[in-house]
Amino acid sequence: MEIFSKLESEVRSYSRGWPVVFDRAQGSMLYDENGKGYLDFFAGAGALNYGHNNPALKQALIDYIARDGVTHALDMFTVAKRDFLETLQEKILGPRELDYKVVFPGPGGANAVEAALKLARKVTGKESVINFTNAFHGMTLGALSVTGNSMKRGGAGVPLVHATPMPYDKYFDGAYPDFLYFERLLEDSGSGLNEPAAVIVEALQGEGGINAARLEWLKGLSDLCERHNILLILDDVQMGCGRTGPFFSFEDAGIKPDIVCLSKSIGGYGLPLALTLIKPELDVWEPGEHNGTFRGINPAFVTATEALRVYWSDDKLEQSTRAKGERIGSVFDEIVQAHPEANLVAKGRGLARGIEFASGELAGSVCAEAFDRGLLMETSGPDGEVMKLLPALTINDAELEQGLEIIGESVRAVLTK
Ligand code: PLP
Repeated sequence: MEIFSKLESEVRSYSRGWPVVFDRAQGSMLYDENGKGYLDFFAGAGALNYGHNNPALKQALIDYIARDGVTHALDMFTVAKRDFLETLQEKILGPRELDYKVVFPGPGGANAVEAALKLARKVTGKESVINFTNAFHGMTLGALSVTGNSMKRGGAGVPLVHATPMPYDKYFDGAYPDFLYFERLLEDSGSGLNEPAAVIVEALQGEGGINAARLEWLKGLSDLCERHNILLILDDVQMGCGRTGPFFSFEDAGIKPDIVCLSKSIGGYGLPLALTLIKPELDVWEPGEHNGTFRGINPAFVTATEALRVYWSDDKLEQSTRAKGERIGSVFDEIVQAHPEANLVAKGRGLARGIEFASGELAGSVCAEAFDRGLLMETSGPDGEVMKLLPALTINDAELEQGLEIIGESVRAVLTK
């Protein structure tokens, strides 16, 4: 343990809530070095939708490494990349009638967001981007400029500019018609709003506190962007790859964003991979104008391809995610009703769920109680006031029930103290 506090920067965060040394992992379980098991309701912050060391993906990876398949290839053509692109087209884009070209922007979610922002500005010749209250898009400067959290923004050390926040869905609890303020500013030549190149949005805000936008709000936003000739960037880094049920979190809203950011679970195995999907007419880049050393991590293409083949050849995973999500939702409703004095709020969609507490301290205490009982969960929201659940989509029913029981006990333990 000592080496971590001695050598690793104070910036580390997750390890503070879970002060054990993890060693092995399988499915929804993580094991510490003493063999103690923890049920993982965090799933790599959404990077492990198919669980830890998923056997099918592991075998594909082992086979690829064993035959000396190329590991690193910048953006050279490889067999692994070809398989991935063909499978993405066949299993995901084609069936959904989504006409996108694929940019490999670098290994992480923030890379996908930076590429989206750069491209939107290049295409339109405009600088300004509209973001939403409580948005989270990553920790690089461009991504931070469209992120809400003041602590994270404060870390930038330079002014974060060229972004204007608008109220996310339900920000005013339905007191005003959707987009009243936004559209008025767009239409008023005296409003002072710089003409936006793009709007960037999450269909369900994960880090922002498990805020699920209504489908009609997303549709309204898409229509507004079309009316005003603004590009719509949908950041599906955390909520994509089936987290809310369908492969893309925006599918149920019936919209087709101009640009989609994917990362986290697209690699399938927890290996770094990110994509920026762009409508073909936006592909105005010069060769090499957006670049990076780690844009073709071929073992990640291999596990990504296998994940699409295994889990997205039919709608079984989507249906089970919706059903498991409903189950969590009904248990959360019971928890909320069992503690009327605490004013809890159950939130989320699919397998992105949360309970909002009156303070970050309460939500943090519930997560600490859960950890003592062998369950990993994190908090989110501007003050960490939302207990957040992102179990693997492949979690079995027994594990799900066990986790929900621990959550019920942990909430009770904190609220009856
Ligand atoms: N966008 C969203 C919606 C995210 O939730 C995250 C990370 O949590 C990011 C972007 C940034 O991804 P990364 O941490 O891989 O840079």
